[in-house]
Amino acid sequence: MSRSIQDELNQIICQGLYRTTRTISGCQSKWVEMDGRKLLLLCSNNYLGLADHPTLIKASIKAAEQFGTSSGASRLVSGTMELHEQLEQEVARFKQTEAALVFNSGYAANTGIIAALASRGDVIFSDRINHASIVDGALLSGARLVRYPHNDVVALANLLEKHRGSKRCLVVTDGVFSMDGDIAPLKELVALKNTYDAMLMVDDAHGSGVLGANGRGSAELLGVMGGVDIHMGTFGKALGSFGAYAAVSGELRELLVNRARSFIFSTSLPPAVLAASLAALELVSTAEGNELRHRLLSNALRFRDMLAAAGFSVGNGFTQIVPIMCGAADVTMRFSELLLDEGIYVQGIRPPTVPAGACRLRCTVMATHSDEDLAWAVERIATVGRRLGVA
Ligand SMILES: *Cc1c(COP(=O)(O)O)cnc(C)c1O
Repeated sequence: MSRSIQDELNQIICQGLYRTTRTISGCQSKWVEMDGRKLLLLCSNNYLGLADHPTLIKASIKAAEQFGTSSGASRLVSGTMELHEQLEQEVARFKQTEAALVFNSGYAANTGIIAALASRGDVIFSDRINHASIVDGALLSGARLVRYPHNDVVALANLLEKHRGSKRCLVVTDGVFSMDGDIAPLKELVALKNTYDAMLMVDDAHGSGVLGANGRGSAELLGVMGGVDIHMGTFGKALGSFGAYAAVSGELRELLVNRARSFIFSTSLPPAVLAASLAALELVSTAEGNELRHRLLSNALRFRDMLAAAGFSVGNGFTQIVPIMCGAADVTMRFSELLLDEGIYVQGIRPPTVPAGACRLRCTVMATHSDEDLAWAVERIATVGRRLGVA
C-alpha cells in the first residue's frame, strides 16, 4: 500500500520539523498584531520599513488606477508594459550595469538564471550555505553542482583548479547570507573567477538597499561592482515591494530572455508592484534612504552587542540579520513560543533551512526599531534564554 499522507505528516511532527503559518493583522510595521496581541516584530525582512511607506503606497495606487491590476500575460506575449522597462532601466542604473531583467520573485530569478546559464557539462560552484533557491536552480540546470565550504576561498580555488577545462564554470554566492548575516568575500571571489575564467553570480537579496555608500549592496561595500557578472537582487525585502532582477550585460540579458524558463513561462508582475519597486529604488537614493540605512546598521550593531553581552552566541556578521544560535530544533521552537508570550515575534529556523544542530532564532532588526524597542526585547530574550539554558 502507498504511504499515507497522515503518516508522512506524523513523521514530520516526530522529527520536530512541523511547520505552520502565523497570521498578522495589519501592516508589516515594527509592532504587529497577532491573535489580538501586540508583538514587537523581530523577524521581518522589511528592513528599511518601506513596506508601509506612504510614498510606495501612493505609487502603487496610482499605477493600479492608470494601468490596471494585471499585466495579463507573460513578458514575451503581451505582458511587457512600460513600467517593466522603466524598472529595468532603474535597476541597471542602481547596479551600474548595461542592462537588467525583472523576474517575478527571487526564487523564480535564481532558478531561471542558473538553469539558463548552466547545463550538462558545466560546473556550478555554490557556497554550502547559499539560499535554497540557488540550490534548486543548480539542480534544475543539469550541470554538476559542487558545494564549497562556507566562504572558504582556498577550498574554492582548489575545486576550480580540479574542474579546469569544463565548458562553463559558474560561481554563485549569497552577498549577505540569509540565515547567518555574514557577507561573502567578494574581492577574493572576483579574483578567483578572473583567474579561472569563470562567471560570478551574487544573490544580494539581503544586501541590496542596505549595504554600500549608496545602498547598491555587498558588491558596492566591497568595491567590486564591476567584477560581478550577474547581480541578482530582490524587491521584497529592504525595498518593501515584491519581485527580483538580474542586473547584467546587454548580451546576458538577451540570453536570459531566450532561456530563463521562469521568465518565459509566467505572467509578469502587475503594475502596482512595479510602481512600488520604482518608488523604492528612488527613495533609497535620497537622503531619507541614506538615513534609514544608517539607522538599520546601527540598530544591528547595538542589538548584536546587547545579545552577546547577555551571553548569546550571535555569529560573526555585522548586518541586520542577527542569529541567536540555539542548537536543537525543540529548544529553538520552544524559545520562539515563549517569546510570543513575552510580546516578541521571532521565528525559529530548523532543517532543511539550516543544518541539524545549528537551529537558531533568526532575528532581524528594522530601521524603524527604536533604542527602547531593542533594549526591551533583549531583556526579555535574555530572561527566556537563561530559563532554557541557551544563554
Ligand atoms: C528571500 C531570498 C530569495 C528569494 O526571494 P523571493 O523574492 O522571496 O522569492 C533568494 N535568495 C535569498 C538569499 C533570499 O534571502
